[in-house]
Amino acid sequence: MTNSNEYDVIILGAGPAGLSVASELSKELKVLLFDKKETIDMTTKSWLIPDMSISIGEAEDILPFMKNGVKRFLADTYQGIDVQWQAHLKYHFAKEHELLAYWGERVEQNGSEILLNCWYQDSFITENGVTVSTSEGDFKSKLLIDASGGHSPIRSRYALTEDWYWWSVCGAVVEFPDGLPEGMQVGDYQLWQTFRDTNINLDESLSHGRPVWEYEVLDENSAFVFVFYLGKYRVPHEDMEKVFTHVLREEQSTSDFHNSTITEFKHGWYPSGGPHSQQITGDRVTFIGTAGCWTSPCGWGVSFIVANYKKYARQVIEAVNKEALSKKQLNKIIHLSTRAKYQVLLDQIATHFLSFASSSQLDQFINLFNPKGPIGEAGPMMCEKLFTLTITEKEAILMLKAVIKSIGATELAKNIPKEDYLLLIGLLKDRVEVSIMDALEKGLEHFHLNKHKLHEQSGFILTD
Ligand SMILES: Cc1cc2nc3c(=O)[nH]c(=O)nc-3n(C[C@H](O)[C@H](O)[C@H](O)COP(=O)(O)OP(=O)(O)OC[C@H]3O[C@@H](n4cnc5c(N)ncnc54)[C@H](O)[C@@H]3O)c2cc1C
Repeated sequence: MTNSNEYDVIILGAGPAGLSVASELSKELKVLLFDKKETIDMTTKSWLIPDMSISIGEAEDILPFMKNGVKRFLADTYQGIDVQWQAHLKYHFAKEHELLAYWGERVEQNGSEILLNCWYQDSFITENGVTVSTSEGDFKSKLLIDASGGHSPIRSRYALTEDWYWWSVCGAVVEFPDGLPEGMQVGDYQLWQTFRDTNINLDESLSHGRPVWEYEVLDENSAFVFVFYLGKYRVPHEDMEKVFTHVLREEQSTSDFHNSTITEFKHGWYPSGGPHSQQITGDRVTFIGTAGCWTSPCGWGVSFIVANYKKYARQVIEAVNKEALSKKQLNKIIHLSTRAKYQVLLDQIATHFLSFASSSQLDQFINLFNPKGPIGEAGPMMCEKLFTLTITEKEAILMLKAVIKSIGATELAKNIPKEDYLLLIGLLKDRVEVSIMDALEKGLEHFHLNKHKLHEQSGFILTD
């Protein structure tokens, strides 16, 4: 290949977003996919994927690269919450390295090219095309797709603000030399475990450094274990690693893991975004995967990719063939097939609440998913539907009402930004009983707002 080669599409980044989209585009277009990594199957991430994302995305061909999946959810906090339930929906654990290799093979079988050990340097847009400068030379195309993840070297040119929150994750795949510890089952997903000794302030929020411990039991011998944080900023890898090592090897309540053997380290950052963050484009440039904030309430970005990449690629093929590659035309390409407006808002509110809420408020939130908690038997299903973005509007309102009742509208107002609080009121207006609206309006006092000023701030008008 010479540096003067021209392509229909150049994709920066061979993570799951770049590779999956390239595997489809290359059926009809000449694609160059490049990445700084050394091997196509390399990733520091690990993926749990709801089955419904695969069916929504008509991506059954990736099923051979899935194994087992969640069978039982658990939550266990130092303040005493102890919840478990059998999974209602179906989930898979991806064999992530094999899946990436599969998509890579598809790209090459379709006659397109993958260039590894290749770093992005710069890009220049002209009326007729894009020139991309890399460590391996310059390449030209009609369209540049940025799939370079959370440290995109291009995105800041196009995104005026970044209203994302970040999940910061650090962990490892571990093996148990003598098989699974007693009581642990294949398919267990510990989704929320906290510890008394990790923070001086016992009530610390996630955004102020409260780590949450999770693990997924992958098979009879191994589990993926990690700590995570959620907040406006990314927690540095070395800080997370220290906490991870402490929890893995020394925490009293994780003794099942103390003698496990680490087989692969994992870490990374992925976004939870607001509704505006997913439609960023420029003339001849567009963003996908983490670079385009393709995410879900718990940051399941690959699940989002799987649900959308084929449909997205079909639209890109059409746009390239028609030369419809201006910013305005690219903005019409729909990235999201699974989200209704109220779900996007709920995602935003849930993200901010999880980030800022105190540890004890989070306990009350987790308890909503307890089959013996305030919502009763419906609680577990509500949790699964919230995080897979399949919650109906009626169910979302039921859950929000339960949150307001157990946490209190004023306390809630202290823990989510004013804009979100106003969105919440707008979302619930006319849909809940007067007592709940009264409680929410009382919460407005926290922002020194009364309901008569509300419509100026939010665009929502309350009825008396
Ligand atoms: C520990 C962990 C666990 C996760 N668990 C789940 C889960 O259970 N389910 C789920 O759905 N999602 C999960 N995620 C999120 C998921 O991994 C991301 O949504 C997904 O990786 C995003 O894919 P991407 O292709 O957009 O970006 P990435 O996977 O970040 O890939 C970006 C690629 O771009 C390349 N690149 C970057 N900059 C340059 C450059 N300058 N030059 C050349 N190449 C470059 C990188 O080398 C990389 O290969 C998890 C993430 C982490 C970190």
